[in-house]
Amino acid sequence: MMRTPARTRTRGILGPTVVSLVLLTAAIVGAFVHRPATPETSSFSDDLLGGEHATSEADGELPDSVSVFDDRYPGVANLDPDLLKALREAATDAARDGVEFNVNSGWRSPEYQRRLLREAVAKYGSEAEASRWVATPDTSPHVSGNAVDIGRSDATAWLSEHGARYGLCQIYRNEPWHYELRPEAIEWGCPAMYADPTHDPRMQR
Ligand SMILES: [Zn+2]
Repeated sequence: MMRTPARTRTRGILGPTVVSLVLLTAAIVGAFVHRPATPETSSFSDDLLGGEHATSEADGELPDSVSVFDDRYPGVANLDPDLLKALREAATDAARDGVEFNVNSGWRSPEYQRRLLREAVAKYGSEAEASRWVATPDTSPHVSGNAVDIGRSDATAWLSEHGARYGLCQIYRNEPWHYELRPEAIEWGCPAMYADPTHDPRMQR
């Protein structure tokens, strides 16, 4: 009984405070929403670079030191089965030489590839330079699960010497970590490398 007036008083005090907070919040949000849009720095189509959203392990992102045997990660598990089989055979033999393969990047979702391309354009300052390092979602062999970036340097050195025996070939001279499966290499050796991805006919789409 004694508390009724107190509650009334409390409502009387809180009411204007809540209204003020709502107005303040609206003002803050408005300040951000109405900031001018950042100017377009790229002529890649919106379809190619747009649709930015967070990517995760489900898109193929990998933590450090993931092995070729670690099926927990879609970046490994979604690789082409023949490529994965060759990698695991090679890794098993390399382990006898004390060399461990890490997968720095394997399969990537188109969204993840798009993010990497955006970052490369920002890093290298132009699309032309970025395209020497990062393919589009339409052309990247990572998106189709047919390429893997291997670390560390002792692993890529081992692959450079023994990879052809497993059909594992370095494709680009400027990317000693990037390997793809070339089954004919087992008999004939790896094909000549492209200087960089811009020389690869698969990238001319
Ligand atoms: Zn690669």
